[in-house]
Amino acid sequence: MPLDDICIIRGYGCFDFLRAYNGKPFLFKDHYKRFKNSAKVLDLKVPLDEKKVHDIIIKLLKKNGLKNAHIRMVITGGQSPDAITSVKPNFYILMDKLIDLPQNLFEKGAKLITHDYKRLFPEAKTTTYMSAVRLQKEKKKKGAIEILYTNGGKIYEASTSNIFIIKKGKIYTPKNGVLNGITRKTTIKIAKTHKVIEKDISVKELFAADEVFLTATNKKVLPIVEIDGKKISNGKPGEITKELLSNLEEYIKENSK
Ligand code: PMP
Repeated sequence: MPLDDICIIRGYGCFDFLRAYNGKPFLFKDHYKRFKNSAKVLDLKVPLDEKKVHDIIIKLLKKNGLKNAHIRMVITGGQSPDAITSVKPNFYILMDKLIDLPQNLFEKGAKLITHDYKRLFPEAKTTTYMSAVRLQKEKKKKGAIEILYTNGGKIYEASTSNIFIIKKGKIYTPKNGVLNGITRKTTIKIAKTHKVIEKDISVKELFAADEVFLTATNKKVLPIVEIDGKKISNGKPGEITKELLSNLEEYIKENSK
């Protein structure tokens, strides 16, 4: 990327992040659609159609000898005559081998810290993750996996994940002001008999929940057992969360043959 790309100077760009299993990009249609939408929100355009991008990804996976991979499709504002107008955006596809979170996090559950923040253009996956990057040291010091954004007494999403809570057998997830997570959508689909209610959720409801979990492409369904040093329920992954993780893993297996 040129050093005077306005993604570097102004933070103007968007991307999408997906996984490939068995040499096949997983839920590619959904990721491409969201990528297109993120670009539209920023007044950018994905320069290639869905099939072209898919074909390039398949080619790159083969070329790099990757079967299971992390993939990033990125559009940056590009070089600019006045250092602020985007005239010729750049498009990149990056990939690397897939690394899963350690299994014990799924078995024992993970911790969160909260931070008062709301993302600008939450429906778009922009390249601006300033708060998240700035707080990584603090997050690690506290042994947390993620930073949960709260604002005005409500919970929104974590820095790179969506959040769900469970109370009395019912599953809830914030409806507004969050990224349309592809794993969020898939989890709602595979919840089967458990209905998922999308609504505003208060911080108070979060701490009173029976179970809490995150969803994200790189975290699947991840149980959360402690937030800001306070235990959620008995401090152990809940039964419904475990069921959803197992359903999601089954869904991934079935859909990446
Ligand atoms: N919210 C934000 C801000 C994110 O960056 C991500 C990661 N893409 C998510 C939620 C989860 O989305 P997905 O399930 O599509 O990975």
